[in-house]
Amino acid sequence: MLLTISTTHQPATDLGYLLYKHPAKVQQVEIAGGKAHIFYPESGAERATVALLLDLDTIGMVRNHAGIRLEEYVNDRPYVASSFMSVALAKAFSTAMNGTCRDKPELVEVRMPFEVTLSVLPVSGGEPFLRRLFEPLGYQVAAHPHPLDATFPEWGESRYYTVKLANTLRLKDLLSHLYVLIPVLDNEKHYWLGEHEVQKLLEKGEGWLNAHPEKEQITRRYLKNLGSLTRQALGLLAEEAAEDTVAEEKTEALAEALPAPVREVKTRLHDQRLEFARAVLKSSGAKRVLDLGCGEGRLLQLLLKERQFEEILGMDVSHRSLQIAHDRLHLDTLPPRQKERITLLQGSLTYKDQRIAGYDAAAIVEVIEHLDLPRLASFEKVVFEFARPRTVVLTTPNAEYNPQYETLSAGTFRHSDHRFEWTRAEFETWAKKVANHHGYQVTFLPIGPEDEAVGAPSQAGIFTVN
Ligand code: SAH
Repeated sequence: MLLTISTTHQPATDLGYLLYKHPAKVQQVEIAGGKAHIFYPESGAERATVALLLDLDTIGMVRNHAGIRLEEYVNDRPYVASSFMSVALAKAFSTAMNGTCRDKPELVEVRMPFEVTLSVLPVSGGEPFLRRLFEPLGYQVAAHPHPLDATFPEWGESRYYTVKLANTLRLKDLLSHLYVLIPVLDNEKHYWLGEHEVQKLLEKGEGWLNAHPEKEQITRRYLKNLGSLTRQALGLLAEEAAEDTVAEEKTEALAEALPAPVREVKTRLHDQRLEFARAVLKSSGAKRVLDLGCGEGRLLQLLLKERQFEEILGMDVSHRSLQIAHDRLHLDTLPPRQKERITLLQGSLTYKDQRIAGYDAAAIVEVIEHLDLPRLASFEKVVFEFARPRTVVLTTPNAEYNPQYETLSAGTFRHSDHRFEWTRAEFETWAKKVANHHGYQVTFLPIGPEDEAVGAPSQAGIFTVN
């Protein structure tokens, strides 16, 4: 079983430093059940490839490791990528996976273009499942299925695929994704299961698993057949989500300490929406901006960092959310010159409000779906007639994307407080009507990974008026 990782990052020889494996040497690591060989089929300044070749001994595996419960001596394990590959990855590339690089530490945070080839990957759930695992993480996926037996085409395809993955990301993230997702795709029993597996899954899944639409399925399969461990892991993930604020602040502090080119591009969907709104407000040239339905103040936090915005007003109907925003923005301890740039107001977007009139631009991120449909007419008047900012960036979920979330039962919304979720056509019809009525122009853009058939998870309308 062969796995290769290639990069065209310049100079590609950086790969050797990052992996802490010299390109001119062939090296081995011992793993339970066999050996893994590490070597570089190519290593130039333009392109470098590292290969991990698994050499498993099924008989030794069964005899020497009582914990391995393989039914037979004859099985597919030596020939496919499975949990053994994850173990080999973790052992061969442990320093890279932990995000350490002794000689060139600055490389750890650099996002590089990578191509991965898995020569034989068992995929339980077929190509759609394979895509649902990797595409939300930003991978381009090419999968070539192998027939069960080429001489008997009528037997159909096997569950084995040759898979190519391409993405631009940090190497440590790539290795963590592979470590967790290979055994998830294989979906056979793993020989490694124990209490500390929950911990390992959380460690390797840090920063991506919690936001992954297939989180539950991944956790369940990774900890196959161990119901209580799965529940424990899902419980811990939920706690992690609750602590997200702290984690995010840490990440932000880290990101700010890094030079711009190596800052990680955030991929989480909500971050993408906020980033999108920030970018639209900024490029509109606005100096005085509104965040309507500002919630807990995540966007306000981004806006405050932009000097271009001299006055920022966040409004929300929820007092509790505004309190959280107040704390998140550290309003009590901000230096006076910063503090006077920002105001938080409690108010409803369905009532005309003089305090939000006369601003240059407004963001309304994931708010309209929280309003009862009959209230939408008042909302339109309040925003587009009375407040009338020259630019409005408004986002809402794209309902067509919902079937992509496996945990969402048909006909339900993504959030219990949503009153409606629109298809792209429904949103565009509403937005064009509003724009026409109030003399605005509107353009539409997708937010998040786009599916050919159903579009992206979120949709934005950008309204402008002269
Ligand atoms: N824009 C924020 C919050 C989105 S959640 C973000 O993207 O993070 C939706 C927010 O809309 C909630 O904070 C809710 O309190 C607010 N909201 C709901 N109805 C509202 C109304 N009538 N007027 C103002 N805000 C409202």
